[in-house]
Amino acid sequence: MAVLPLKTIGDPILRSKAKEVENVNERTREIIKNMKDTLHENEGLGLAANQVGILQQIVVISIEDEEIVLINPEIVEKEGRKLMEEGCLSVPGRQGAVPRAEEIMVEYRNEEENQQRRKFSDLAARVIQHEIDHLKGELFVDKVVDISSAAPEKEPGSVE
Ligand SMILES: [Zn+2]
Repeated sequence: MAVLPLKTIGDPILRSKAKEVENVNERTREIIKNMKDTLHENEGLGLAANQVGILQQIVVISIEDEEIVLINPEIVEKEGRKLMEEGCLSVPGRQGAVPRAEEIMVEYRNEEENQQRRKFSDLAARVIQHEIDHLKGELFVDKVVDISSAAPEKEPGSVE
């Protein structure tokens, strides 16, 4: 078991783009195993390789007892939009509401290098969108919506 140290906001690797994995080899499998250990140790729902200092397009998620490895994930369809509070292991102590698609279709390779196409919804869809952002060097704090600013506009002529 190897729990890797987490990179936190301010580290340039979190703002870097991860590279596509060309083939799943021994080294890739070792990275995946260490990412799973790190995710569970931190009781997270998802982890992107950037968060442990590795610029490869690898995501591990663990939701409702299902563990899924997504290599080179790409969202090919999106549906719906929902605002929900999010946090991030790389941004300790901060939370904020982020709009995300409610349902997504994702193409990716699994640990056996097989091409997959799978639909995810609700929490899994949210976590995967969050992790794919990491692979692109984006953080949830870039997308946080100030709920108070989304309040309906005042009627014309109202006085404050
Ligand atoms: Zn995160």
